[in-house]
Amino acid sequence: MGGESADRPVPDAAARTPARPIVTVVVGGGIAGLVAAWVRAQAGDHVLVLEASEQVGGTVRGATLDLADGSTVTVDVGAESFATRTPAVADLARDLGLAVVQPDPLGAWAYAAERAHDDPDAPLRPVAVPLPRTATLGIPTSPWSRDVRRALGTWGALRAWWDLGMPRTPVPPPDRPWSLADWVRERLGETVLDRLVAPVAGGVHSADPATLDPRTVAPQLVAAYEKTGSLLRAASQVAAAPGRGKDKPGSPVAGVEGGMHRIVDELVDAIEAAGGAVRTGVRVDALVRNGDGDGWVVRAGDEQVAAARVVAATPRRVATDLLGDLLPPATAHPRHGSDVQLVTLVLDAPALDAAPRGTGVLVAPSADVRAKGLTHATAKWPWLRAALPVHRHVVRLSYGRAGDPGHTRVPDVDEALADASRLLGVTLDRAAVVGHLGTHWPDALAPAVSFDRERAEAAQAAAPGLTVVGGWVAGTGLAAVVGHARAAVTPPAIA
Ligand SMILES: Cc1cc2nc3c(=O)[nH]c(=O)nc-3n(C[C@H](O)[C@H](O)[C@H](O)COP(=O)(O)OP(=O)(O)OC[C@H]3O[C@@H](n4cnc5c(N)ncnc54)[C@H](O)[C@@H]3O)c2cc1C
Repeated sequence: MGGESADRPVPDAAARTPARPIVTVVVGGGIAGLVAAWVRAQAGDHVLVLEASEQVGGTVRGATLDLADGSTVTVDVGAESFATRTPAVADLARDLGLAVVQPDPLGAWAYAAERAHDDPDAPLRPVAVPLPRTATLGIPTSPWSRDVRRALGTWGALRAWWDLGMPRTPVPPPDRPWSLADWVRERLGETVLDRLVAPVAGGVHSADPATLDPRTVAPQLVAAYEKTGSLLRAASQVAAAPGRGKDKPGSPVAGVEGGMHRIVDELVDAIEAAGGAVRTGVRVDALVRNGDGDGWVVRAGDEQVAAARVVAATPRRVATDLLGDLLPPATAHPRHGSDVQLVTLVLDAPALDAAPRGTGVLVAPSADVRAKGLTHATAKWPWLRAALPVHRHVVRLSYGRAGDPGHTRVPDVDEALADASRLLGVTLDRAAVVGHLGTHWPDALAPAVSFDRERAEAAQAAAPGLTVVGGWVAGTGLAAVVGHARAAVTPPAIA
């Protein structure tokens, strides 16, 4: 455990470790660990990455599918894009010699269920609308713009417009529960909530807006609302903030030609070229500080390795065990992640050539499909489209929302195909499927909380030579994780 001391001498580093003395051991070969390892290797450290699974990259992973016609296609089965609100990932990709690519500007759609106007007893019916280009968490900035009217209809737009003339309703005090759903329903009406906010917030936070507190998920929006007294004006202010794109819903994103997993392949090559080593299948079970507090012993089963510097780059649960009492107790319960399942379908389907739902669909929790989102990857990424024969499409469905532990099974092809048909508005039959793959990510996308970063900083201050990186301290998403990992192992963050 992190608080223990190793008084006995450290045996030589185990076989297959570099011959030179190891200065930095990185525990966890996800993107955070690999970025930290590369930075330290370039700085001259002798770096060893220890990764528990047989494959590096963590949730940035590619997979090659064998297709019915004997060909193959390699696709991302974890992260497939990155937010461009910071230059962190684009800079990394370019430093590694990879081409950063923009998604096709088709835009995405929302899929929801709603009742006929003014009739609470009417059955729910599905509705699919293109997402307005300028919005914050699905909240439109201008109810009368053409794309918003198209999404909401005249009555929905009119109801949203009332917000500008409504009296300001105070933000509840911090100890009073408050939900994004209640806020949007009150200010902008049910149609904005059902058609726009539920799918977008559900996609971004993997949760029902009824369970999301605006003070946690949208503090800037709440601050802007407190100034302006209008949710539409607040959304405009946030959408106009520096770093926000003006032309797509949510944060603007980019990708890497060939897929995000290429960053992982290139990082491993770059670490090795700089003299470092990356080992897979090595599960670290203890980090022990030397008795004099100078240096560490990293233990994995029967093996142990001496290190001057340790970078803990695992998910929260593992880091909590490894760091032990170096980590101050949590002041609140961190929210756990969701059980995410992905189904990738490769389809020969001419009906999809026209990209009927743009680059993909975000799904409201109330909808009649279990999928929470669909990415039409060949519509979104021109490089992937160009790599495949005509009429061939890659469609990725994602399943599993936060707080919904009921579903942990990866859906089978027929279930995924039925969902894809509904979401894309096109009948897709089994004969169209030329390849498929299910991927399971347990406890994924756990939201980072500020007290975790403070705990990690306290552990670092108490234990010289320790650096803690990864999504649980940096925030979910590659933009946050990469930028944080790079800075955390670069002076002045370390000596
Ligand atoms: C399905 C999915 C899709 C996503 N899509 C996107 C996206 O499109 N864009 C985006 O920006 N973000 C996306 N994300 C989030 C993004 O992938 C993560 O925020 C980021 O990759 C986290 O990186 P990490 O290195 O902190 O953690 P991880 O990727 O979890 O890596 C941690 C590593 O530590 C290893 N490890 C654990 N225990 C030990 C141990 N005891 N010893 C040694 N090694 C250990 C693990 O095996 C793992 O490889 C997605 C996530 C998922 C699950």
